[in-house]
Amino acid sequence: AKEAARKPGLMGRLMGRSTAAPVVRRVLDDEMLEQLEELLISTDMGVDTALRVTANMAEGRFGKRLSVEEIKRLLAAEVARIMDPIAKPLPLYSKTPQVVLVVGVNGSGKTTTIGKLASQFKAAGKNVVIAAGDTFRAAAVEQLQVWGERAGVPVLTAAQGSDPASLAFDAMGQAERDGADLLLIDTAGRLQNRGDLMEELAKIVRVIRKKDPSAPHNTLLVLDATTGQNALNQVKVFQEISDVSGLVMTKLDGTAKGGVLVALADKFGLPIHAIGVGEQIDDLQPFDPQEFADALMG
Ligand code: GDP
Repeated sequence: AKEAARKPGLMGRLMGRSTAAPVVRRVLDDEMLEQLEELLISTDMGVDTALRVTANMAEGRFGKRLSVEEIKRLLAAEVARIMDPIAKPLPLYSKTPQVVLVVGVNGSGKTTTIGKLASQFKAAGKNVVIAAGDTFRAAAVEQLQVWGERAGVPVLTAAQGSDPASLAFDAMGQAERDGADLLLIDTAGRLQNRGDLMEELAKIVRVIRKKDPSAPHNTLLVLDATTGQNALNQVKVFQEISDVSGLVMTKLDGTAKGGVLVALADKFGLPIHAIGVGEQIDDLQPFDPQEFADALMG
């Protein structure tokens, strides 16, 4: 049972259990390509992207004998090529306070990501303020306060159920008075009522623009890698209701296959500013395309 639970890596599955030597060479034929496509699809990459990756990899190599190690390296290179242009840390502007609106469905890891970001920027010498804009979820506000304490960053809150836009306006005022470099604004994630959420986000944007017409400077969409292909749909929906400028993918430490990130890059081309790799404050990393591609190909 233990043996069965230990899932072989992608290429392990390609080689099969009996021929476990990475030097085994195989002919790159139709059957092989189909196998590779299926393996890539099993990582949540989606059919379109999987087909493109394998086709690009096979170009000029069809009918040749390749070792499993070579195949792995070539596929990883294709994936890294797709991911390279979108691996970008959150850009920092000279305009302060830089206003970052954080959106995403509940449970995606917004609160945690805001805490981690606050801690990182604080450690880099930035003056950070957090606004707990999900005023309807008392638990979210409390969680954010805990994260604020951990990060050593003030968290602005308002009475439960009060207008998030009004809190955002106050937060702008406070951030300006404090000479803050960065204002991170949490938002609600109730997608069940898309119209309401759209209105709420639009109002927040309207109100903060009264203080600074160029704000928000970033709208970060937080996505949960464990939702697989569903993440694609979330990007679509949040692009309709807000002005998504970049992504953070959380929970890449777990069993998530992560291939959906390749599909996201391929379909939307939005920058990936960071990835979440755990529940602790330091578990936020810059996205490294090659490392990611190698891990995906296991
Ligand atoms: P929110 O509802 O979007 O604000 O989501 P939370 O920040 O409260 O996160 C939901 C759950 O996911 C919590 O239990 C977090 O600890 C967990 N979580 C968030 N980011 C990560 C991550 O990168 N890795 C893991 N393993 N768990 C995470």
